[in-house]
Amino acid sequence: MPDSLPLFEQGRHLLSVSQFDRDNLQALFDMADAVDPIAKRQAVCTVLDGAMLGSLFFEPSTRTRLSFESAFLRLGGEVTTTTGFTFSSMAKGESIADTARVVSGYSDVLVVRHPDEGSVAQFAAHSIVPVINAGDGTGEHPSQALLDVYTLQKELAARGKNVDGCHIAILGDLKYGRTVHSLIKLMGLHTGVTFTLFAPPGLELPVQIEHDAIAHGHTVRVMDDVEAAVTGADVIYATRVQRERMTDELAQANARGDLLNKSILTRADNLDAIIMHPLPRDSRPDSYDLSSDVDDLPGLAIFHQTDNGLNVRMAIFLTALGVTIEAVNLTSKRRPWKATLRPV
Ligand code: ASP
Repeated sequence: MPDSLPLFEQGRHLLSVSQFDRDNLQALFDMADAVDPIAKRQAVCTVLDGAMLGSLFFEPSTRTRLSFESAFLRLGGEVTTTTGFTFSSMAKGESIADTARVVSGYSDVLVVRHPDEGSVAQFAAHSIVPVINAGDGTGEHPSQALLDVYTLQKELAARGKNVDGCHIAILGDLKYGRTVHSLIKLMGLHTGVTFTLFAPPGLELPVQIEHDAIAHGHTVRVMDDVEAAVTGADVIYATRVQRERMTDELAQANARGDLLNKSILTRADNLDAIIMHPLPRDSRPDSYDLSSDVDDLPGLAIFHQTDNGLNVRMAIFLTALGVTIEAVNLTSKRRPWKATLRPV
């Protein structure tokens, strides 16, 4: 994906985190804060009345698709959706270019997930409306990185810390985990971050991403022991093994048991760390993922990430469609009924 993409603003596609600078990142986060009453079901908003989202997911998704669609609906828009290749004309041999031109004629904005790296950019090149990349193979997942940094900021601020200068341990499948690729790239906008990386053999981070982080002035430490990797980290970001994307690496990786659990954190003396994960967490036995025995720890932020995803995805739509915070406020009103959300 080219690094020279224009900044993400009205009428633009969102293909890569490289479209952000500190200013437009902060503007997006301000918008995400402003829509919080809508996300929290305290207010109803109709600012996107009459707008149509085309939601095209050619790869499995639960939270990304549902949160994008919920975000659009909660802003008063409407959604059309197709999932998988089987139910789309791509199964009849239609090209990305033709599909993109056709569906963009029906929608005001498109959200697209596709298994091939670079395919969403190709889609965007033939679309007549803005396209949001919801994951292109092992390439990028920009909206996830945006909600990750938004969450990181809030969790660190609650502890009197900043993203600048923080220490984040990133664990798991760093080779195929596109959320990690986008996250490390987006952290390039911050300063003095220490990344401690731990991956099973064969699933290490692509060297280019590591070099770019160092070129941004960050410190990158690569560890071969998970306990050492999480020791002293403010934040631990764990990812699942992307089994669907690999061939022989899995045998080489020898990834079994838990990637991270409470006893590892106890031995590392870091039970208070902020714990993040893009989800889904692979809960099958021996899946080599984050154990659910950490769920009662005070720093567990994985469901804060999913909740924050709604705010950030609303902000993405509002930005792409050129809607201001003032217009959102004008079209929002208190709900006549009370939502019963339990605090977590
Ligand atoms: N949901 C994330 C993604 O689509 C992470 C994952 O699948 O492991 O990349």
